[in-house]
Amino acid sequence: MRSLCKKIQEKAVVLGDDLLKVDTFLNQQVDTALMEEMGKAFADHFRHENITKVVTIESSGIPPAYAAAVRLHVPMVFIKKNTPTTMVDPLHVQVYSFTKKKHYILCLERGLIKPGDRILFIDDFLANGEAFKAAESLIEKEGASIAGVGICIEKSFQAGRQYIKDKGYSFLPLASIKSLKNGQVLWEDD
Ligand code: 5GP
Repeated sequence: MRSLCKKIQEKAVVLGDDLLKVDTFLNQQVDTALMEEMGKAFADHFRHENITKVVTIESSGIPPAYAAAVRLHVPMVFIKKNTPTTMVDPLHVQVYSFTKKKHYILCLERGLIKPGDRILFIDDFLANGEAFKAAESLIEKEGASIAGVGICIEKSFQAGRQYIKDKGYSFLPLASIKSLKNGQVLWEDD
């Protein structure tokens, strides 16, 4: 998506060979017009997949996932990174955080995702696919299936992309980065 790539070129900061900082438009401050545009791109692409729910992981997946869910006229469910006392029957899965470099627990109230649901999973980044695999296991535990994977920024030189392709999921990355070496963003289609 041209506007997302332009935003990355102008505002993102390369913090290392595999890490991009996007706090000014996606990870802390949110560019709402860009979220609307990304939500539209996801919704248009997956419109014929009979999506019944959009699922993401808090917190940075929420704005694009919400924008897509509004357009698909389905609920959006976000998987939590802690277990509030209000949760009565939580499902848990352990995940390794790419940015925090440690394991943490993801949590989903049982019953929000139902058997037969066709899930569009959306997230801000795809790196090694650990967050996706954890969400996938929760979705499968609930008897639902993944009908599409929408990623705002994928780093195609990391392992997540291959995992998603190998599983045969319908996959839409809006920006595909093939390298962050030497402080430079190189695009998959360069
Ligand atoms: P994965 O589980 O695919 O290894 O990593 C995906 C998660 O790690 C994303 O949800 C995102 O929060 C975070 N992440 C991965 N790579 C980056 C990156 O380059 N920059 C930022 N800001 N977050 C990242």
